[in-house]
Amino acid sequence: MIIDKKKIVLVGTGMVGMSFAYAALNESLCNELVLIDIDKKRAMGEAMDLNHGLAFAGSNMKIYQGEYADCNDADICVLCAGVNQQVGETRLALLNRNVDVFRSIVEPIVKSGFKGIFIIATNPVDIMTRVCYELSGFDARHVLGTGTTLDTARLKYIVGDYFSVDPRNVHGYVIGEHGDSEFVPWSQTMIATKSVLSICEQSGGEACFKELERIADDVLHSAAKIIEAKKATYYGIGMAIIRIVKAILNNENSILTVSSRMDNQYGETGVFAGMPCVINGNGVERIIDLDLTSEEVAKFKHSCSILNEYFDGIKI
Ligand code: NAD
Repeated sequence: MIIDKKKIVLVGTGMVGMSFAYAALNESLCNELVLIDIDKKRAMGEAMDLNHGLAFAGSNMKIYQGEYADCNDADICVLCAGVNQQVGETRLALLNRNVDVFRSIVEPIVKSGFKGIFIIATNPVDIMTRVCYELSGFDARHVLGTGTTLDTARLKYIVGDYFSVDPRNVHGYVIGEHGDSEFVPWSQTMIATKSVLSICEQSGGEACFKELERIADDVLHSAAKIIEAKKATYYGIGMAIIRIVKAILNNENSILTVSSRMDNQYGETGVFAGMPCVINGNGVERIIDLDLTSEEVAKFKHSCSILNEYFDGIKI
């Protein structure tokens, strides 16, 4: 009899981490879920609360407040620990505070003998993913950030709403930094297999193109609007992490816009940025190079230059 046990360690049991954990319980995502937080009492309370839902869950799961030594035989470590974005604060301003947090987390995880895959959600996520890559010394394929997965989901939702189609039939991506320099390569955005640019040309004309600008703007400012209304965003990102974990644990070869280490994409190497990637049990199997227009390539390179600039300012 082969028992394929799946173990996930979550570090950071705040709003984002627990939105992921709650969804993980409801989706019977794994057999063992370990919760770690600097605030051990909080992690313990969260574990108790989730355990009290087990009787109503789809399958049994071992859930407990743990220690870094528990990462030893984990398949995936999800890092959501960090300081949250304040009203009006940019993600990049969070950087230096969160680098110190990561130092105290990544080193004991590596010391535990962990050999699995890191998924990072902490902001600024592209830089924190690169920090985790540097601190861990892991293969780049095994260190990935949530990148622009959530932004891409927002794009699909808003485009679907405008053109009155199911967001799952919108095919397109937000790429680059998860932040102010992210952008929508409209030349690569389709409804079914029809480009939205040709739909606009054939139907709405100027008004339709104006709507695309409005949509890209709405995607970019979604997080700030939610933070202004309810102080933080967490359900959407919790589900984005679930989606990435499923692609890894089920060896799906799914394409998701995670943040991964560029390897000569449009001449960029070393920087971590959101691009469509094939995700499977190996982590990032490969990056899909899109046929961007020269204007879109310039936007991507601009985004990478911002990410490089901030990363270069950190002492690791
Ligand atoms: P939160 O404040 O609710 O939770 C953060 C948790 O991290 C707290 O429980 C805290 O005790 C813990 N923590 C802090 N320092 C720690 C340490 N050294 N070791 C272990 N645990 C530590 O914040 P949140 O709303 O859950 O957000 C978490 C992170 O996720 C933030 O950086 C936020 O900006 C980011 N975020 C990312 C996305 C995305 O798309 N990638 C979306 C939303 C939020």
